[in-house]
Amino acid sequence: SPPRSAVIIVGAGISGIAAAKVLVENGVKDVVILEASDRVGGRIRKESFGGVSVELGAGWIAGVGGPLSNPVWELAAKFGIRTCFSDYSNARYNIYDRSGNIIPSGIAADSYQKAVDSAIQMLRNQEEEEGEEEKANHGHGHGDDRFNSNRNNNESKRPSTPETPVELAIDFLLHDFEMAEVEPISTYVDFGEKEFLVADERGYDHLLFKMVEEFLFTSEGRVLDNRLKLNKVVRELQYSKSGVTVKTEDGCVYEANYVILSVSIGVLQSDLLAFNPRLPRWKLEAIEKCDVMVYTKIFLKFPYKFWPSGPEKEFFIYAHERRGYYTFWQHMENAYPGSNILVVTLTNAESKRVEAQPDEETLREAMAVLRDMFGSDIPDAIDILVPRWWNNRFQKGSYSNYPIISNHKVFHNIKAPVGRIFFTGEHTSERFNGYVHGGYLSGIDTSKALLEEMKKEKERNSESQTLL
Ligand code: FAD
Repeated sequence: SPPRSAVIIVGAGISGIAAAKVLVENGVKDVVILEASDRVGGRIRKESFGGVSVELGAGWIAGVGGPLSNPVWELAAKFGIRTCFSDYSNARYNIYDRSGNIIPSGIAADSYQKAVDSAIQMLRNQEEEEGEEEKANHGHGHGDDRFNSNRNNNESKRPSTPETPVELAIDFLLHDFEMAEVEPISTYVDFGEKEFLVADERGYDHLLFKMVEEFLFTSEGRVLDNRLKLNKVVRELQYSKSGVTVKTEDGCVYEANYVILSVSIGVLQSDLLAFNPRLPRWKLEAIEKCDVMVYTKIFLKFPYKFWPSGPEKEFFIYAHERRGYYTFWQHMENAYPGSNILVVTLTNAESKRVEAQPDEETLREAMAVLRDMFGSDIPDAIDILVPRWWNNRFQKGSYSNYPIISNHKVFHNIKAPVGRIFFTGEHTSERFNGYVHGGYLSGIDTSKALLEEMKKEKERNSESQTLL
């Protein structure tokens, strides 16, 4: 029979690595990390493009300067990761219409306020519905008075829908990027509102490598420790009262007392992994309740810069009658001066549409949008990079997106272990899901819970030994 480890960790993203580190540092050295891809990092991933290092996945350290210290910010400081301050609240003042005119700030501000008001109304309606549902279920309501702004209750309950291109662009900005202005997000409340863009040639994943160096054997930038196994696609988890058998696509079989599963919510919703026996219904239902957000940063390299790059110009918006159509733009001059790279971000349906078409088509669309904004004589991009997080079977999306008013039970059930299988990852973090620090903190949390369980098991075993 195959060798048996204390713990197998499936996935070497930030959560899996954080989980492994906690175990090893607490004396559980007999761990095996099985990673499907050929690298460590998961959704933290750089690629060289246009002469610099660009981040296809996580790009920012979000939540800095607040009452508590963001642990990822601390790690970045400890390992000397280069970052630069980034403020996308300015984006709303750089909105271009299809004729290349910048929307006057008064009009933009009015549309912005309208969008915020309508989003707040929508949340209130949802909250009321949720409250009624919970009352009916005898659950506890959401007692916190989050929306106690001085608005009167008699106004129409129907939120106004965005109609004009400017309103659509702002709606996209609010809902797909800055929901914090409507709904308090724990990341900004706890860790602060500042965001820093990682601008390090070694990549955001250098931070992970430095973490790995502290507990696995590495040499000259490579992990040589055979506890980390790359290109191991887990396909089956067979679990019982006594242990877990893990089977990989290449026909290998691994045994462990426990498994920590760190695959994304998108992967859990897909059929990549078979559980034997099947996962219980409460678990499957919770997994289905969490939405998957697709977020795609498309990189374009130009022979020279033709966009404004002064202060407060890092982000700009394109207002089109189709919501989310090449709306959100960023130049990379702050991170890499002279790199002549633009980034445009698409989400959800637009991301999926673009993933399915050839990159030349995407390039053509992006160039048409840029010519609307900056005129017909701008140069063609000389290179394009389109990440495909949705079609990547080891990701199936970019990050978890819980319905705005989600009840605590869903998080609890997503995270709760099933027998000897423990769950971790960004999506299991109730406060910080969707972020790198959410992944990091969840890994630590899960390993602490597992260490507790191992301790209890040991006690149970020694009790039964004494009885014998
Ligand atoms: P992952 O990093 O996905 O790790 C899971 C690992 O499991 C992966 O390595 C995967 O290959 C592996 N795996 C999957 N299936 C199997 C299998 N069957 N067998 C073995 N291994 C398997 N966060 C921020 O804080 N700031 C940002 O600016 C930001 N921007 C983002 C932009 C994009 C485009 C994306 C995609 C994400 C972004 N995030 C951002 C979110 C952040 O990247 C994630 O929350 C975090 O990296 C998730 O870490 P994780 O360990 O939970 O999951």
